Amino acid sequence: MCLPETLASAQSTISRRDLFKATAVAAVAAAAPSAIEAAPERALRYRSVIDLTHVLGTQTPLFPGYNQVQISVNRSYQQDGYYANQLNFNEHSGTHIDSPRHFDPDGVSVDQIPPSRLIGPLAVIDVRERAGRDPDTLVTPDDLRAWERRYGRIPNGAVVIMNSGWATRINNAQAFLNADSGGTLHFPGWSKAATDLLINERNVIGIGVDTLSLDFGASTDFAVHYSWLPSGRWGLENVANLADVPPHGATLMVGAPKHYGGSGGPVRLLALI
Ligand SMILES: [Zn+2]
Repeated sequence: MCLPETLASAQSTISRRDLFKATAVAAVAAAAPSAIEAAPERALRYRSVIDLTHVLGTQTPLFPGYNQVQISVNRSYQQDGYYANQLNFNEHSGTHIDSPRHFDPDGVSVDQIPPSRLIGPLAVIDVRERAGRDPDTLVTPDDLRAWERRYGRIPNGAVVIMNSGWATRINNAQAFLNADSGGTLHFPGWSKAATDLLINERNVIGIGVDTLSLDFGASTDFAVHYSWLPSGRWGLENVANLADVPPHGATLMVGAPKHYGGSGGPVRLLALI
């Protein structure tokens, strides 16, 4: 947001030399049309911001095999006069992004995802009713078509996220993983048929789930991870609060981390409504 008063006060505080530099940069930009100038102007208006992020903590449920999140005090007011924590966690902890590198050695790492591909229209696919009856349910091409019949074609640059109602289980790791006596997990996810449709017939930057994995819990082949991520698109897992956003019309901003070579990492997800 750039209100006229803000701009005026910012201009009054910069020196004449800085102003000259800014003008020179603007002149160069005007002479050589950039990708930014070529892109259509986008207006972003919103009334409220909804946080789609779970708190990351030592009790955060994790995919089997990952170590629990560790948070320890590293600098304390008593000893050091200020406060700082030391964090130790796997990239795939809590509400997080899977970058293409997670399943593709040639895919972009999290630090390489272009910023323009971390913001887009949010489409929420509601499968709560089915998931309540069948924890192994999948988002299907029919679910995408049903959404489009109601709200129109999935917008270009969209992020499409499954709401299975699973986020309400986040404080109970056993219910969140929902393992049977043989150790097989049972929670909803995407079908490969649906993600293939998005790859081949729509223009989408990312998908997401409110469960632990893009693939459903009982998956043994991780067909969605192995096809979606190598297509150059990213995924979000453990998304929170999807019941608080409309199925259509919000904009999602993904505050992704930027550590070198990352396969992903915890994010702050903000939906602008
Ligand atoms: Zn992940």
